Amino acid sequence: MERVYNFSAGPSMLPIEVLNRAANEMLCYGDSGMSVMEMSHRSPVYDEIIKDAERLLRKIMNIPDNYKVLFLQGGASTQFAAVPLNLMNKNKKADYVVSGQFSNKAYKEAQKYGDVVVAASSKEANFSYIPKFDKSNIRPDADYVHVCFNNTIYGTKFPYIPDTGDIPLVADMSSCIISEPIDVNKFGVIYAGAQKNMAPAGLTIVIIREDLMGNAREDIPTMLDYKTMADNDSMYNTPPCYCIYIAKLVYEWIDSLGGLEKMKEMNEKKAKVLYDYLDSQDYYIAPVQKDSRSLMNVTFVTGDADLDKKFASEAGKAGLKNLKGHRSVGGMRASIYNAMPYDGVVALVEFMKKFAEENPKA
Ligand SMILES: *Cc1c(COP(=O)(O)O)cnc(C)c1O
Repeated sequence: MERVYNFSAGPSMLPIEVLNRAANEMLCYGDSGMSVMEMSHRSPVYDEIIKDAERLLRKIMNIPDNYKVLFLQGGASTQFAAVPLNLMNKNKKADYVVSGQFSNKAYKEAQKYGDVVVAASSKEANFSYIPKFDKSNIRPDADYVHVCFNNTIYGTKFPYIPDTGDIPLVADMSSCIISEPIDVNKFGVIYAGAQKNMAPAGLTIVIIREDLMGNAREDIPTMLDYKTMADNDSMYNTPPCYCIYIAKLVYEWIDSLGGLEKMKEMNEKKAKVLYDYLDSQDYYIAPVQKDSRSLMNVTFVTGDADLDKKFASEAGKAGLKNLKGHRSVGGMRASIYNAMPYDGVVALVEFMKKFAEENPKA
């Protein structure tokens, strides 16, 4: 069977070059005589893999020396608790921007641990835009401000980096990390589940400014304490070894293509094909405000639930898989992460044109 264009929001496509390389190294990695899955995480051969992964991520993201990179487990959802447990440590206050379902979950989880308020929200418009906010919307004694930088479900992305002054900005970047260059210096913490744009599910990346560590609540579970993980080079316990290896291959792939500047160029080119088509016709409606459009997740609807259903089903048969929108939004969502080839997006637009012609609205 041929490989399909997989528009899944996550887990999602990985670069074919990475999958081939992993296949070639599956039984025997280097001269180790074993698969990466079978190695001790404390062996010299594995040590090189995890160090390379960190070195490459630091290189492509241009991560400053005063930031730690952690390879953790539990998904982005575990960070919803880890962030307040580690950072809500001075005034027990945090301000959250609620711009979608994941940021709302993060907000609810943080409420268990302190005085947590919504600094800005776009709920009243079904999260179809990114709310504007700045220092004036934030409590001056908040321990941190939390945002979700790319809202996977709704297809929105922050068109700006919020200015929070001296208050650390924490960002969930699960669905946009390494899709374009970002100034890490503007953030206190960046975290991301790996399964959208980096690796198989099971790995979570945390990038944290060093001075924000070491001040966690006393009752924090050891496994959630950033300091413990940093002091042990992400090896306090067994890390998600194979996922980290695949992430390393993905970082190598990006580096060899020309880094995040090149990714941005490729991703903008792909997204433009889709958005330009959406803007040129009136069969499909793109619900997201133009200034808040995501480069990674593109949402659209026909306005007729039965047609939406038919679209996703027929697209699937044509080798364009997983276009059904999230159950809370309906319609369609095309996730076009780094590994989605340009040709996949062109094929999608061709299919959209054909479907519109063959299925006139009543
Ligand atoms: C997928 C996703 C999550 C949830 O990630 P898990 O790794 O499944 O916990 C959280 N935030 C965003 C932005 C996501 O896209």
